[in-house]
Amino acid sequence: MKKIGFIGLGNMGLPMANNILKTGIEVNAFDLSEKALNQAENLGMSIKQNSESVLEDIDALITMLPNGSSVEKIFLDDNLLEGINKQTLIIESSTISPEISKKVSKMAENYGISMLDAPVSGGVKGAELGNLTFMVGGSEADLQKGSSLFKIMGDKIFYAGESGSGQIAKLCNNMLLAVHMCGTAETLALGVNNGLDPVVLSEIMKNSSGGNWSLEKYNPYPGVMKTAPASEDYSGGFLNTLMLKDLNLVSELALQSESSTPMGKLALQLYEEMKDQGFGTLDFSSIQKKYL
Ligand code: NAD
Repeated sequence: MKKIGFIGLGNMGLPMANNILKTGIEVNAFDLSEKALNQAENLGMSIKQNSESVLEDIDALITMLPNGSSVEKIFLDDNLLEGINKQTLIIESSTISPEISKKVSKMAENYGISMLDAPVSGGVKGAELGNLTFMVGGSEADLQKGSSLFKIMGDKIFYAGESGSGQIAKLCNNMLLAVHMCGTAETLALGVNNGLDPVVLSEIMKNSSGGNWSLEKYNPYPGVMKTAPASEDYSGGFLNTLMLKDLNLVSELALQSESSTPMGKLALQLYEEMKDQGFGTLDFSSIQKKYL
């Protein structure tokens, strides 16, 4: 690939696009935010003033947008699909509803364009280090076509199934993430309230049957893990509002498939409370604040 388009240069998109740029591939970049455009320009990307101009001479288009309505706006309302060359592969990496994902992919297919849903896990650090996990839905042949790009941005690439499957896998993952983060925060507080040191308790549980990703990589208790958002006043990382968005998508998915998800519902309620308490822009491990 010689040149790609990238739309959505936020916390995740900018470092993802930058990793591609660093390999020598040119990047046409667009974002609604002037700040994001300036950052992209400083890194050496060719910035564009609208999404249509991003399409000039590109081999692939990657989108990393906040939600389903922004994806619908770009592809359907702004009719971006009409201007896309049929050889261009679209990699849609935002976390959105599987229904919207399928709808937009179907529209792309009607134009003869290949589109993959490829949401990611690994957070801003993973985006910076190029070791994201991709969960891909669409055709396996298209995944192969995009594999050189996936390998630049990530180190674990999974084919989940037909269009929309990547989003379903991502929502399942994030429901479990929310549940074990809430459980970890609650448990650490229980130990501390009964006289245990959170560092010692974390070490014990990490090496016992309670071990999980939140304990190992993202400890929510302040001071336990120096590199975790908990030790930086819960700044940066994966915001409570984004987790809430994903849990609402989980709730829709559960309703449509008549799946019982009581733990997911409780996590949704807890993250709604965090937002109502004014903590929407803190990292999602700040759920610990409920128990401090
Ligand atoms: P963000 O809000 O930092 O970035 C989104 C960017 O999209 C912003 O710069 C915004 O200006 C731009 N944008 C919005 N509408 C646009 C439009 N119509 N045209 C052009 N640009 C537009 O969000 P983020 O943290 O980068 O997350 C992006 C996606 O990745 C979300 O769907 C999120 O759920 C998912 N995600 C985030 C993380 C994380 O840790 N932040 C981890 C995994 C997945």
